[in-house]
Amino acid sequence: MIDPNEWVRAFAELIEQHTDELTALDAAIGDADHGSNLRRGTSAVVETLADAAPGSAAEQLKQVGMTLIRTVGGASGPLYGSFFLGCATALGDKKLDTTDFAAAFRGGLDKVVARGKAELGDKTMFDALAPAADELDRRLAAGDSLAAALDAATTAAEDGSDATIPMLARKGRASYLGERSVGHRDPGAASAALLVLAAWRAAQ
Ligand code: ADP
Ligand code: MG
Repeated sequence: MIDPNEWVRAFAELIEQHTDELTALDAAIGDADHGSNLRRGTSAVVETLADAAPGSAAEQLKQVGMTLIRTVGGASGPLYGSFFLGCATALGDKKLDTTDFAAAFRGGLDKVVARGKAELGDKTMFDALAPAADELDRRLAAGDSLAAALDAATTAAEDGSDATIPMLARKGRASYLGERSVGHRDPGAASAALLVLAAWRAAQ
């Protein structure tokens, strides 16, 4: 089972470690703020959760989503915020475990799509998140533990992030570059793979 606190703490730690790399990716096809945007947001989330009264997993996820929307900025703030709000809604009164975790993750993904309208191949965070959600479902259906399913989902997200390199961006700021967006990894896909890796760490 995953404690939402541990998931977002692990995400914050990974973002901290990869801030410069994410910013460099965004410098190539955006405005060089993806690393700093997320770092500001995830450190605010860690502080908010430390101060918050203990609540249900869904209440904590909702808090995370609202804090990210308030603090991250850019396109990715509302999108990551929506992801966590969608997780919270789909989770209801359940815990972040096995198929309930997968359903929450899918609920988050659906909210990202509702907000940003990204499709597979648009060169966005969706290209890392969607394969991860599919792999989670497949592995859990095959009887894997949540940790094992998340291990495979992390690989799927990383492969999805790699796959954005040759893509032409069709959403967000990078889409203004047209052909010049080809040959660069999407920063949001890179950070989304870290979000899945963080869940795997929290499942240990
Ligand atoms: P901004 O582009 O406003 O500077 P960030 O740099 O923080 O915001 O985030 C950029 C990332 O947001 C992109 O790499 C992409 O993955 C993601 N993104 C942008 N638009 C969309 C969208 N419509 N749907 C999904 N993800 C998107
Ligand atoms: Mg940017």
